Amino acid sequence: MTKIKEVVQVLERYAPPAYQESYDNALLQIGDPEATVTGVLVTLDCTLEVVQEAVDRGCNLIVAHHPVIFKPLKSLTGKTPVERILLKALQHQVAIFACHTNLDHVHNGVNAKLCEKLGIQNPKVLSPKTQLLTKLETYVPLEDTEKVLEALHQAGAGQIGEYTDCSFRITGTGRFTPSPQANPHIGEPCKTEETIENKIEVIFPTFKQNQIMRALRKAHSYEEVAHYLVTLQNENQEVGAGMVGELEEALSAEEFVRHVKEKLQISTFRHTAWPQKPIKRVAVCGGAGSFLIRQAKAASADVFLTADLKYHEFFEASSQMALVDVGHYESEVYTKELFYDILTKSFPNFAVDLSYTDTNPVRHS
Ligand SMILES: [Zn+2]
Repeated sequence: MTKIKEVVQVLERYAPPAYQESYDNALLQIGDPEATVTGVLVTLDCTLEVVQEAVDRGCNLIVAHHPVIFKPLKSLTGKTPVERILLKALQHQVAIFACHTNLDHVHNGVNAKLCEKLGIQNPKVLSPKTQLLTKLETYVPLEDTEKVLEALHQAGAGQIGEYTDCSFRITGTGRFTPSPQANPHIGEPCKTEETIENKIEVIFPTFKQNQIMRALRKAHSYEEVAHYLVTLQNENQEVGAGMVGELEEALSAEEFVRHVKEKLQISTFRHTAWPQKPIKRVAVCGGAGSFLIRQAKAASADVFLTADLKYHEFFEASSQMALVDVGHYESEVYTKELFYDILTKSFPNFAVDLSYTDTNPVRHS
């Protein structure tokens, strides 16, 4: 028996809500987190048809990339498409969870899936975010060092790229005078004490600060735990917008067009003039990605493939880099497969269904 909140936890561990954009609303949008999951329907968008599909297929949880609720509601009467979707979901006790820009921003999210579909190798985050990492410095008695480190790692500190349990330490002398009211672990009140301590440094994602500080205080034997927290300017290479990598082999413009159509299963797309060179290095951003054109150029991409480009934005292409707009739906539809993979790995005890509803509102004639 799995509760809806457990499914939410797994997806939020994969794509932490702290990584969503400020305008976003990625969370459990509607439904009882304590309800038992009967089945999950995964989709790019949650439309009325998708809610009906969930009901028909016995799923009481819809996991969508795009949130249904963006703006606060003042009433819920069915006067807008959003309200009609919510009413129908409420009537049928179907919960809706959205995992949006947080899934865009993790290195194994929407853009990694798009790269996988396009055969782009070793993709890296195109525009890594800064100020998402914090460094903790703390001072511990020698005999407590391993216990404190273990607790910090357990709480999520010290993971850098493919390396876990990372820390740095240096040994020195700590000096302190406890007040008459103090209850010191070492020494006695009003007497200056010197003791050999380790200074430990670890790095962690800033959003984990509360759990890490709780773990530190629990594992540390001092009454007052000396520590410093520093927000780092460093880029977090694992979090940010877009990705860039290389095709297995360089393609001519003609071959690239065929490749994109075949891999994304589309018959047409918009693009600027192709560069006069083979296409190998490709930047991508699922959904609206015009804000990354400059970064794609800086990353020496031969092509930047994204969606929702406006006429004037196409002029920002250069002789070295073409712009490709495959359509918003087309660039993100495989996010469904990503949800499917995450959930089937974690929950073998209920069905995860890929929605068969084509939610793309855009038609080509
Ligand atoms: Zn989107």
